[in-house]
Amino acid sequence: MSILLGAIADDFTGATDLANTLVRGGMRVVQTVGVPDGGFALPEVDAVVVALKSRTTPAEEAVADSLAALDWLQGEGARQIVFKYCSTFDSTDKGNIGPVADALLDRLGDDFTIACPAFPANGRTIYNGHLFVGDVLLSASGMRNHPLTPMRDANLVSVLSRQTPHQVGLVHYAVVRDGAGAIRQRFDALRSEGRRFAIVDAVTDADLEAIGEACADLALITGGSGVAMGLPENFRRQGRLGAPATAALPAIDGRPAILAGSCSDATRLQVAHARRLWPGLLIDPLTVEDAERSAREAVDWALAQDPQSPVLIYSSDEPERIRAIQESLGRSKAGDLVERMFGHIAQGLVANGVRRLIVAGGETSGAVTQALGFRALEIGPEIDPGVPWTRAMGDPDLALALKSGNFGAEDFFEKALGMLP
Ligand code: ADP
Repeated sequence: MSILLGAIADDFTGATDLANTLVRGGMRVVQTVGVPDGGFALPEVDAVVVALKSRTTPAEEAVADSLAALDWLQGEGARQIVFKYCSTFDSTDKGNIGPVADALLDRLGDDFTIACPAFPANGRTIYNGHLFVGDVLLSASGMRNHPLTPMRDANLVSVLSRQTPHQVGLVHYAVVRDGAGAIRQRFDALRSEGRRFAIVDAVTDADLEAIGEACADLALITGGSGVAMGLPENFRRQGRLGAPATAALPAIDGRPAILAGSCSDATRLQVAHARRLWPGLLIDPLTVEDAERSAREAVDWALAQDPQSPVLIYSSDEPERIRAIQESLGRSKAGDLVERMFGHIAQGLVANGVRRLIVAGGETSGAVTQALGFRALEIGPEIDPGVPWTRAMGDPDLALALKSGNFGAEDFFEKALGMLP
C-alpha cells in the first residue's frame, strides 16, 4: 500500500509533534528513527515522518540526509512532502532550512513552495512576514541567545533570502484572511514572478487550515507542525483518505516506569507530583563513579518495588543544584553521563519486563530511544498538547511516551498511564 504524505523532520521531538498533528487530523502515522533500511516493514499507514538530526549539522550533510529521506518516502508512494523545522525557524545564514528546501524542490522537479513556521497554539505567529514569539518579535525573544542558532532577525523574508540564491516573496495577512482561493491565486502570481519561496502570514489555526487547503497541489510544503493541520482534509477531499481513524492506544501489558532527565520547570512539577504517588529514585551524578554499575543498581531498585506500581527514576533537580553539578563535572560531561545512564537503565528495565515507559526530556528521549534500538514509532492518541502515546516497533513491543521537557500538565505521568487499557 502506498502512503499519501511523507515528512522529513530536522529533529526528533519536532517529528513527534508533526506526527501528532497528522494523527489529530485522522491519519495513521508512523515516525521512523532516521531513514529506514531495506529490512524495515512499514505497517499500513497514511503518512510517515522521518526523524532526522539535521537542524545544526553542516548544510551538505543535512541536504544529503534529507534527500535520502525523500528518496525513501517517494519509494513508498508519497504524493506530497512536508519538510518540518522549528516554529522559531531555528537556522543560521548557512542553513539548513534554505539549502534543504532548495535541494528537495530540485529533486521533486518543482519551482515553488511555502515557508510557514507559525504555531499559534504555542504563541508563534507571522504577520507582515515577521515571526512573533508570544508578544515579542523573534529577535527580542529568548531565541536571540540560542547557543547554536541565535535568531536576531524576525523578518523571515530576509532570513530565508540569506539561505537561498533564489527569490523569496510574501503572502500578506490580508490575502490569507480571504481564504484558500485567494492564497492559491497569490501563489500563482509569486510563481510567475519567479519567486521560489513564499513566507505566509498566519495568526490563527483557521489561517493554517486555509493555507493547508491552498497547498493541496504543491509537491513540497515547508514549515512547523501547524502548517500540516489542513493537509489530511485535502486527501479526504480527493477521496484518498477515509473518515478520521481513531488512533489506537498501544495495548501492551507490562510494568510501568518513568525516566525523567529533564530539569525544565514543567518536568520538575510533574516529578514532584509523581513522588507523592509512587516510589522514586533520584540519580545524583556527583555520586556516580561507574555509569553502568549505577544504572544496574537503579534497575535492581526498580525491580524490587511492587510490580503493579509505576516507578520513577529521575535526575531532575533545582537550577542551583544543576549548576553545582555542572561546575564540578563540566556541563557536557554531566549531561553525557546522565544520558548514558538513562540509556542503560532503559535497557535494563525493558529486559526485565517494563513495557510501559514514559521519558521526560528531548535529549533524554533521544538517548533512550537510541539505546533501545527502535527503528520506528507508531503514533497513538495525544496525552497533552504535542505529546502522544506511541508504540515503539521492535522486539519487544513497548508503549512509549516521549515528552519534551516543558510540555504537559502537572499530572502528565498519572494521566498518561491512566489512559492505557
Ligand atoms: P529538556 O527537554 O527539558 O531540555 P533534555 O533531556 O533535552 O530536557 O535535557 C536535559 C539535559 O540535562 C540532558 O542532557 C541531561 O542529561 C542533563 N541533566 C539531567 N539531569 C542532570 C543533572 N542532575 N545534572 C546535570 N545534568 C543533568
